[in-house]
Amino acid sequence: MKKMLLDTSVIYRSDLNFSDGSYVVTNNVLQEVRDETVKSVLNSAINKGEMVVEEPGNDYIKKVREVAGETGDIQRLSDVDIELIALALEKKYLLLSDDYSIQNMCRHLGIKYGRGMRDGINERLEWFMLCEGCGRRIPYDAAMKECSVCGSELRKKAVSS
Ligand SMILES: [Zn+2]
Repeated sequence: MKKMLLDTSVIYRSDLNFSDGSYVVTNNVLQEVRDETVKSVLNSAINKGEMVVEEPGNDYIKKVREVAGETGDIQRLSDVDIELIALALEKKYLLLSDDYSIQNMCRHLGIKYGRGMRDGINERLEWFMLCEGCGRRIPYDAAMKECSVCGSELRKKAVSS
């Protein structure tokens, strides 16, 4: 089975079902996930062996940085992105990301890529923040804690899209 490497946004857009067991993340992707519910789902997938954590070799990071410098994508790629691309290149994984610069790098380096875990097959979860006070829905932002209108606490919610 082809292993699929996931970036943070793909994890948030997914249905959080990893039971078909061929997923890979890096430690830095895990660090980027702040939502406690999502974190615990990922930890349980790792404990069950449905997901593994791997790191790329330094040679591959160097190569990706070089090519990203040539294409100009280096300015739009984080260190986490660079690691994901390097790992996909090294282990020939399918890289799932909706980031344009990551996809562009995949094309340049001959890495197979896709936009989501089950695009066109399963419904996806869409995350947003819900204000407990005024009921306002706000686009998902992990850093936001309070409603800018009424100051009440915001809760993370998901709906199927
Ligand atoms: Zn409010």
